[in-house]
Amino acid sequence: MVGAQHKVSEVSAGGDAELQVIWTLLDEVKDPEIPVLSIRDLGVLRDVEKIKGKVIVTITPTYSACPAMDTIRDDIGTVLAASGFPDSEIKTILSPAWTTDWMSETGKRKLEQFGIAPPGNTNSPEQAIHCPRCQSEETNLISEYGSTACKAMYRCSECKEAFCYFKVI
Ligand SMILES: [Zn+2]
Repeated sequence: MVGAQHKVSEVSAGGDAELQVIWTLLDEVKDPEIPVLSIRDLGVLRDVEKIKGKVIVTITPTYSACPAMDTIRDDIGTVLAASGFPDSEIKTILSPAWTTDWMSETGKRKLEQFGIAPPGNTNSPEQAIHCPRCQSEETNLISEYGSTACKAMYRCSECKEAFCYFKVI
């Protein structure tokens, strides 16, 4: 399915179908920090246009992916070139800033399967964080300082496992 942010460029020579192919291709570009998530799952991929034969890809980095942006840019160029789009340009837009709201539902499911609790709708302390392993709501914050990809560590009272929570930003 094509994301809601998908925009059809009026000056595209190849038309909408070709842009959809490119969106699908770019699903192969993963976030180096969280290799189960593509830049499309994360909402890092903002726009794809084709102007005079050149593919223009617009991305907005996540807070965790900043040092990984060079890798992501290289990967986008490589994937496009390997699929018959050698001429590409990658634009980075920092404003509006990336937010966890841009993460797709598919992305949240993949994150949970990876063992990281996906971002909820709020960072309110009253919000129940579900254990990604057993779905229990009986979880407790053990550290506000997780790795860059998760930012907070929780422990589940049910299965006793510690897990990361991807905070809402
Ligand atoms: Zn559990």
